[in-house]
Amino acid sequence: MFYISTRSTDTHAKLTFSEAVVKGIATDGGLYVPAFFPSIDPYDSFWMESSYQEIAKKILSLYLDDFSPAELSSCVDQAYDDKFESTDIAPVNSIGSSHFIELYHGPTLAFKDMALSILPHFLKTAAKKVGTKEEIVILTATSGDTGKAALEGFSDVDGIKIIVFYPTDGVSEVQRKQMTSQNGENVAVYGIEGNFDDAQTGVKHMFLDSELKRSLKDKGYVFSSANSINIGRLLPQIVYYVHAYFSLVKKGDLSIGDKVNITVPTGNFGNILAAYYAKKMGMPFDQFICASNVNHVLTDFIETGVYDIDRPFNITNSPSMDILISSNLERFLYAIGDSSAEMVASLMDDLKRTHRFECTDVMRENMKDFHGGYATDAETLNTIAALYKAHGYVVDTHTAVAYKVYQDYVARTGDDKHTLIASTASPFKFAGDVLKGIGCEASDSDAYAVLGILSEETGLEIPKPIHDLGERPILHPETIAVDQMSAVVKKLLK
Ligand SMILES: *Cc1c(COP(=O)(O)O)cnc(C)c1O
Repeated sequence: MFYISTRSTDTHAKLTFSEAVVKGIATDGGLYVPAFFPSIDPYDSFWMESSYQEIAKKILSLYLDDFSPAELSSCVDQAYDDKFESTDIAPVNSIGSSHFIELYHGPTLAFKDMALSILPHFLKTAAKKVGTKEEIVILTATSGDTGKAALEGFSDVDGIKIIVFYPTDGVSEVQRKQMTSQNGENVAVYGIEGNFDDAQTGVKHMFLDSELKRSLKDKGYVFSSANSINIGRLLPQIVYYVHAYFSLVKKGDLSIGDKVNITVPTGNFGNILAAYYAKKMGMPFDQFICASNVNHVLTDFIETGVYDIDRPFNITNSPSMDILISSNLERFLYAIGDSSAEMVASLMDDLKRTHRFECTDVMRENMKDFHGGYATDAETLNTIAALYKAHGYVVDTHTAVAYKVYQDYVARTGDDKHTLIASTASPFKFAGDVLKGIGCEASDSDAYAVLGILSEETGLEIPKPIHDLGERPILHPETIAVDQMSAVVKKLLK
């Protein structure tokens, strides 16, 4: 297996997985993608007999073929252990033909744990393999969940430092406190006066700032990324879609080969792209329902083929999807554009210059299995209420967006085949809004009292990782302007 940049026309520029994961982003600004999609056979009895960890080893071995089986095994076993509160790692909860893959039983209560608990092990192994002498500095922009999951994954990992930037006014109180109270000798966390796109763009600029990189290299540092621009984030996400499908076969909801639809609350397009990669590998996935909040740049893109970011940026009750520049879309464009790097480079250039781009007819034809939709904040709360009242099932705001958009899709198309729905965060992570949704007046209480109220109201236990969040000391109080980001990094790495 080799990895190529979505923007490189140099057919010799092929990297091993280890090289790609250490680099994070290609020098030409493109993202690394696998040179082809290895195929799997759903009828192989292996899938029915295997645990989450075994399925992970199998899928990842097809992409990380420069890792020895022992190295890969060690990465998987260290990542998916009792840090996860469910032995299934990603259990599936079914309501009729809607199957919620609960991706939030890891240490930070969001689906980012699925990839970020393994990425540090990939990076350590890969750095050794490619002979990286410098200390690796992980730069991360976060809309709330990636930051904490990355901090948790990389905290006190030898030879790696991590610096996280989050939008000061764009995260929930629980998300903020999770990050500002992070322990670890090698971690730094900053709020920025700006939104997530500002944070992400700032980080991308540092990655491409050759002068900054040179001066840091002299001091013994090299940048890498824990954002989903890193291919090491994307590949582990394929695993849970495969695992969930066979869980349903085991439960008797599906027979092998039955097609299912996939519904994903989407921001940077990484999670839904992983499901699409699984389809490319041979999984019987049919239609993809891409759910957004009122920052519905992706809904419009899927409907019209035009991606246009000249629009207001809204802060919503599903903040992890408050994103206009969806970074993994570039990998999708590469796939639907028949792997034309020239095409991708030209569209990305259009986006930079004119804040919009338009797909070709071929690309639109190739994305016919994608459907978009969005939910407002009020619709999100209503959906939380409806699921709770009818089924006693508590979902977070992001998962509610997905379910609402899925119901709209079924009403519009009549396509009600079984669907896998990515349930991306614990309801406790967004407890205030979830309580509002289920009709509990707790809006005046502080963010930590709300956890207790939600627990009492629903009978669910407060997840262990945030049990004592209110009492933890704040270790990272600073907020900086966007244009100070690279100065702060330089100072930290002096
Ligand atoms: C990150 C995140 C998303 C969006 O996932 P992408 O892979 O960026 O599309 C959705 N919900 C939650 C809770 C998240 O943390």
